[in-house]
Amino acid sequence: MSVTLDIDHRQSGSTAPRHPEKQNRPQSPLLRKPEWIRVRAPGSDAFHTTRKIVREHGLVTVCEEAGCPNMGSCWEEKHASFMIMGDICTRACAFCNVATGLPKALDPDEPQRIAEGVAALGLAHVVITSVDRDDLDDGGAQHFARVIAALRAATPQTTIEILTPDFLRKPGALDVVIAARPDVFNHNLETVPGKYPSVRPGARYFHSLRLLQQVKEKDARIFTKSGLMLGLGETRAEIMQVMDDLRVADVDFLTLGQYLQPTRQHHPVIEFIEPAAFKAYEALALARGFSMVSASPLTRSSHHAGADFARLKARRAGG
Ligand code: SF4
Repeated sequence: MSVTLDIDHRQSGSTAPRHPEKQNRPQSPLLRKPEWIRVRAPGSDAFHTTRKIVREHGLVTVCEEAGCPNMGSCWEEKHASFMIMGDICTRACAFCNVATGLPKALDPDEPQRIAEGVAALGLAHVVITSVDRDDLDDGGAQHFARVIAALRAATPQTTIEILTPDFLRKPGALDVVIAARPDVFNHNLETVPGKYPSVRPGARYFHSLRLLQQVKEKDARIFTKSGLMLGLGETRAEIMQVMDDLRVADVDFLTLGQYLQPTRQHHPVIEFIEPAAFKAYEALALARGFSMVSASPLTRSSHHAGADFARLKARRAGG
């Protein structure tokens, strides 16, 4: 998949820059990707069917917004992951390709459209994520709950995984989301704590960690999941420390994938981590007690999420 240019392709059709806050950043050259990162271009009938269903229901996918390299293979299997509450984010993380700016008002019909889109795709497991909505009093927690309720009503057999923002300075928001009983609560730490100021400047490492821990404390039935992007300049020791922190927070499932730089204005790739090194991290993480670990250059938190959830459930049941 080609690198996404810093021009807008939001549903609004705006031609404004996707990342106005990054316009004056120094440009970092885009490194040539190693062969293990290359993916074939999408184009099958099944891929086009998925795109048609997504468009017909007016849905936003993180697959497109993040320029995910797995889009060809996922959409061929009708696995799309949805991004709710619009396609404009109030944060400006240095790694992320989602457009930044002032979001629009919430769409009250979105939960129903998501439910109908998921039913049309026939998804057994769905991943719902969102932009950060620091502009909303509850950070969008109620909207997450409405989407979960609409899915439960329309496709009760579909299991639901949510990938949430951090709800920083949104007291009570987490309780609203937990009360809606998603099957999996995912919140990505994204990187090691030492990189937060340059990679995730609007977030706080210990707040994110504590968010995951609180989910388990409040409802131990919900599976918890988190992930890191590697290749941002973090050290092995820092990665191991994050693994230990996540285990202290009782997180079940860890994902590790390669960071890819969306544009020259985004954080540079410092290193392409070899597949064998990902395998070694996977072994180290499993030894630390995670129930599931997915670690490879193309691992993304929503990649194969349905199959992974089935395995996670089987492991909890002792299978
Ligand atoms: S890995 Fe996730 S974000 Fe990427 S294409 Fe697949 S479902 Fe979409």
